[in-house]
Amino acid sequence: MEGVDFKSEKYEKHRAAGKILSETLSEAEGMIEVGTTHLEVAEFAENKIREMGGEPAFPVNISINEEASHSTPSINEKTKFGEDMICLDIGVHVEGWIADAAKTVDLSGNPELVEASEVALEAALDIVQAGVNVGKIGEVIESKIGDRGYNTILNLSGHGVGRYDAHVGPNIPNCAIRTGVELELGDVVAIEPFATLGGGKVTEGGKEEIFSLIQKKSVRGKKSRELIDTIENKYNTLPFAARWIGEGQGKISLQRLKMARIIRGYPVLREQKGKLVSQAEHTVIVMEDGCEIITR
Ligand code: MN
Ligand code: MN
Repeated sequence: MEGVDFKSEKYEKHRAAGKILSETLSEAEGMIEVGTTHLEVAEFAENKIREMGGEPAFPVNISINEEASHSTPSINEKTKFGEDMICLDIGVHVEGWIADAAKTVDLSGNPELVEASEVALEAALDIVQAGVNVGKIGEVIESKIGDRGYNTILNLSGHGVGRYDAHVGPNIPNCAIRTGVELELGDVVAIEPFATLGGGKVTEGGKEEIFSLIQKKSVRGKKSRELIDTIENKYNTLPFAARWIGEGQGKISLQRLKMARIIRGYPVLREQKGKLVSQAEHTVIVMEDGCEIITR
């Protein structure tokens, strides 16, 4: 892949998304304390992204304790932060070009769990360059987290980011694999280690507040048809929150679209009960001799 133009519109928009994300993430992180509500933090971050000229690439994820991903507040959620482990995962896009990053805030008295995923992420970023095998990145992540006595989560992984698509190839595992591909010059990828004292495998369970369009087809009801158009115009195929659609008729139409398999849901992904999870994530552009971290 010779002659990648790193000044092209695509990369400039990834960088713009990354800059919005990094500022939003650090301000939202600063709001998290015992007594603040999940909804306040999610809405603050999503509004800030829009004010800065971006759009959320997916609803702000606020995953608590054994939750690892896909948790976002409902429209009238009143839950407050307690003495929790909180993974804050935010995505931003500028005209479809995405940045994805996450931090973990510890209010539970387990800072070493947060440190484990952060150290693993830094070690992974240190070896990223064109030609590195993703299996090697997974190996570094697994060993850094293992050294500290934790498990990585094997069925969650990093990924490429495409236009209006937050999860494309290559898959970047959180453990050593032999079948990985090599990163190519100009790839834009998110790397996201997770650390836990749980078994290292998440399962789907509990609430479902995030959805995305999978196929357009005919459906009964004017309101349902209007909702398909709204989703397509506002979110394209990117994930959106049920709370962005609203209550009442919106909620009913959303369920109809799900039953008709026009949209899919993303149930919360969780570790074993009581097993805390930490996550750290950055999005990078793969360069010849390293990488440019666009979400720092
Ligand atoms: Mn993420
Ligand atoms: Mn990601």
